[in-house]
Amino acid sequence: MNHPNSYQGQRVVVLGLAKSGVSAAKVFHALGADVVVNDRKPREQSPEAEELEQAGIAVICGGHPDDLITERTALLVKNPGIPYSAPPVRQALALGVEVVTEVEIAYALSPAPIIGITGSNGKTTTTTLLGELLQAAGLSPIVAGNIGTPLCEAATRAEASQWIVAELSSFQLKGTSAFRPKVGVLLNLAQTHLDYHGDMDDYVASKAKLFANMTAEDTAVLNWDDAICRTLAEGMAAKLLPFSLTQQLEQGVYVEPPYPVSLEEEDGAERELVYRDRLGQRHRLIACAELGIPGRHNAANAMAAAAAAIAAGAAPEQLEAPLRAFRGVEHRLELVTERGGIAYYNDSKATNPTATIMSVRSLQGEMILIAGGLDRGSDYMELLPLFQHRLKGLVTLGETRGKLAHVAELAGLERVIVVEPEEVAEDTLRAAVRHATALAEPGDIVLLSPACASWDMFTSYEQRGRIFKDSAHTL
Ligand code: ADP
Repeated sequence: MNHPNSYQGQRVVVLGLAKSGVSAAKVFHALGADVVVNDRKPREQSPEAEELEQAGIAVICGGHPDDLITERTALLVKNPGIPYSAPPVRQALALGVEVVTEVEIAYALSPAPIIGITGSNGKTTTTTLLGELLQAAGLSPIVAGNIGTPLCEAATRAEASQWIVAELSSFQLKGTSAFRPKVGVLLNLAQTHLDYHGDMDDYVASKAKLFANMTAEDTAVLNWDDAICRTLAEGMAAKLLPFSLTQQLEQGVYVEPPYPVSLEEEDGAERELVYRDRLGQRHRLIACAELGIPGRHNAANAMAAAAAAIAAGAAPEQLEAPLRAFRGVEHRLELVTERGGIAYYNDSKATNPTATIMSVRSLQGEMILIAGGLDRGSDYMELLPLFQHRLKGLVTLGETRGKLAHVAELAGLERVIVVEPEEVAEDTLRAAVRHATALAEPGDIVLLSPACASWDMFTSYEQRGRIFKDSAHTL
């Protein structure tokens, strides 16, 4: 993409009226481009439209006009969630109009260096924690992207001395070409979002775009326990700063003593996070038991955040206090309440099987799992060992309830309740919480960790999580 300044007087189409679209539209309008914003949703569902129109920006709601994209269109800025199969995107590609996401624009505008964080699971946790680490180290971060401030807004507000810490999805990265973060973090790669990407290759290629333009002045923070991450490191121009739960590294952030590779093994060892620098010097960061967030997946998130903070200039000894103080983010293994000796955890953000596996393994004790939701074609057989060894009972709801009940049957799990949909989706979840409570005994855990997205029943995982929390409080 050319610099946003160079679109003066030219037609820029912004597709999608979400927060990121609004901020991209404002940026191009302020730079003198001829901006049109379009959204398929009807106008009543697009409260942002009025604000834009008042600023003098044209807004078209309720469908995509056939002549939205023409030879005159200089650029299409696409909301990351809109698929490449949507008619205006197809038209743009056919006419050779460049299609970008907001990340590309923010990169071109920002005087501050950007740390981009991506991966299948753990992005929000790591991004939020990294913001805290940089703050504690006096590095003045702006947390932006899917969480916090929209990226374009952060980019126009940032000063050169600051750092933009951006959570980036594969959808956002797919729409970049020149984007070059100063530090790029790839947490892990699981089979997810295959409905959007079509296949795993496209998904991995989108994530790999994070590193595509990096040079030896930039740093790639990579998960050394993940075979695909290690393959991506080959031939990469950036400096590598790996992290690992299971291997002691010559340079990077790791756990001492390492965790066993198999998730099945629990050895109860006392562990600490360590950073080994380029000169081979060892810096102890914190004992794992003192981390404010539970489980080995969160130890991985903490290592990734620590590595990125060090790459940005934080001193290793500045990290211990904020690593201890960070208590996680809402809807991620959040302890809701303890009632009648039963602990209720809300992990509504676990929207794929890998996330659920990590969460279940992070908690100790007999467990009733509430799972199920939108069917995205994930391989639910992955859950079989978990159902076999770690669950006392399963309560399943949503589109995938039949598939999950089938896996539970194969696992020989005896206590399985399939909750059929009630008229109001909220009531179905409330019924699931009641069933789970009936299966639980004092000392047990009831965990909502759906392994699926929420859109078959709810508007968002946040809504699902809030209803779960309210049900647990009002049983
Ligand atoms: P994201 O932003 O990538 O969706 P979150 O930080 O919001 O990730 O965490 C979502 C869920 O993913 C958590 O509730 C937890 O179940 C799981 N999770 C978090 N970190 C990891 C990780 N490093 N590896 C595997 N699963 C994880």
